[in-house]
Amino acid sequence: MIVARTIAELRRARSELGGSVGLAPTMGAFHAGHLALFEAARAENDAVVVSLFVNPTQFDDPSDLSAYPRDEARDLRLAGEAGVDVVFAPAVEELYPEGFQTWVEVAEASRGLEGEARPGHFRGVATVCLKLFNLVRPDRAYFGQKDAQQLAVVRRLVRDLDLELEIRAVPTVRDADGLALSSRNVRLSPEERARALALPSALREGAEAYRRGGDPVEAARAALDGLPVDYVSLLDLGDALVLAAAARVGSTRLIDNVLLEGALT
Ligand code: AMP
Repeated sequence: MIVARTIAELRRARSELGGSVGLAPTMGAFHAGHLALFEAARAENDAVVVSLFVNPTQFDDPSDLSAYPRDEARDLRLAGEAGVDVVFAPAVEELYPEGFQTWVEVAEASRGLEGEARPGHFRGVATVCLKLFNLVRPDRAYFGQKDAQQLAVVRRLVRDLDLELEIRAVPTVRDADGLALSSRNVRLSPEERARALALPSALREGAEAYRRGGDPVEAARAALDGLPVDYVSLLDLGDALVLAAAARVGSTRLIDNVLLEGALT
């Protein structure tokens, strides 16, 4: 496995990859959700590139950025074991050199939910994704269903800017108790982790209410067990309708969603 730290190193490594290339953009602190993206990329492509970059421009909260978990040595070991061919792990200055001033804004898809709770978040996501797509030139890029609005933003970006790649959605990987895996879960104390389970169970309640013809948002809100939420909201992804929510457990912010209709591919 090649670890590229600079754009020049990445371009060199990319030029040596033959056949189709799958890209999984990540911010590291790998868990089984990331590994599912790598596996999906491995299954459909001749080569797999993973980017490992805690993108500062998508953080609206400096304390969230500084507390973001990082363990590069472990990540590189796991990527190697997963059969990843190239890891692109640049320094911040490599992607945002002095004088950087060009931003991508996916106007409509970035509105509401995460876009409203985290101003500027999707501008940072769309910009770094476009840069990664330009640098890696993948045939397919893999994103988790867990970040459903991100998926909608990236799909729109690809369509609107005529990028030549396919965006693939990978189902959310959960712990046995239902909590969606997230790099931020390591910040939860055992007591907070137990409280956090109200988020997936409220979403399940919402989905159940929807199946019975009821109001999923209302049902999920009622089942949140006092957990403070930023939003509980429906998100129409075109081919799928999801019920999404963001909750705060102590100082950690968690997001999750469930599929109500359709399928994400
Ligand atoms: P992150 O490193 O948190 O930015 O996530 C990198 C990619 O992994 C994104 O496309 C996420 O949607 C995806 N991802 C994160 N958590 C999960 C999960 N529990 N299941 C599936 N994909 C996930």
